[in-house]
Amino acid sequence: MRRYILAGNWKMHKDAKEAVELVKALIPLVKENKEVDVVVGPPFISIPAVVDAVQGTNIDVAAQNCYWEDSGAFTGEVAPPMLKSSGVKYVIIGHSERRQFFGETDATINKKALALYKHGLVPIICCGELLEEREADKMEQVIETQIRGCLKNLPADKMRETVVAYEPVWAIGTGKVASPAQAQEVHALIRGLLEDLYDKDLAQAVRIQYGGSVKPDNVKELMGQTDIDGALVGGAALKADDFAKIVNFQK
Ligand code: PEP
Repeated sequence: MRRYILAGNWKMHKDAKEAVELVKALIPLVKENKEVDVVVGPPFISIPAVVDAVQGTNIDVAAQNCYWEDSGAFTGEVAPPMLKSSGVKYVIIGHSERRQFFGETDATINKKALALYKHGLVPIICCGELLEEREADKMEQVIETQIRGCLKNLPADKMRETVVAYEPVWAIGTGKVASPAQAQEVHALIRGLLEDLYDKDLAQAVRIQYGGSVKPDNVKELMGQTDIDGALVGGAALKADDFAKIVNFQK
């Protein structure tokens, strides 16, 4: 049985004070939920304060990006060992906004995943097609290329713990959620690719999140799909009440 993982990507929102206020409002609303993994992803600068605030709770912290070297002359970048020592557990890599605005590619995402493994961090690897790719009937090809590229040579023991997030780009921040059937189709495709790259046992173990306009009123149906094991949530993660409803979708 795969355990659901509900993660909030706060993007470039909330300063350190607001970030602590948000997570402190969330803690009591999700603390009874022992059935799912709960993750919040504040901006880098708020990570230490948020890690401090969630001590002793059921909430883990994610970073939204990292570089792949351990240290060096890479102005503006943050290294995996720095994230590890700050108390981060997960790192989101390959988000479509990073691909679109910051030149992230499958090859750099792959390097980042390997670097994260070296430091005991868990990647959340994002993939997803653009609207024009879906409309041109290229969704399968795009997802396959992204998955094979991002997962190239990732060792099976680490891949088993890795989270994959399917985020159709046309559904991110647009209010246009993929239908549960559309999402399930791609999640099954990704699981099939995992089976092809590794084996059935590993493919069944890896958690695949859906992301793209997940809200309290659509989460339950999405999570009810066979191959959907959680959500990566943007906008709705910025309100404690909404994100708590998403986390507690089984209640
Ligand atoms: C995201 O940024 O990963 C995301 C899914 O955003 P939203 O939930 O706002 O669509």
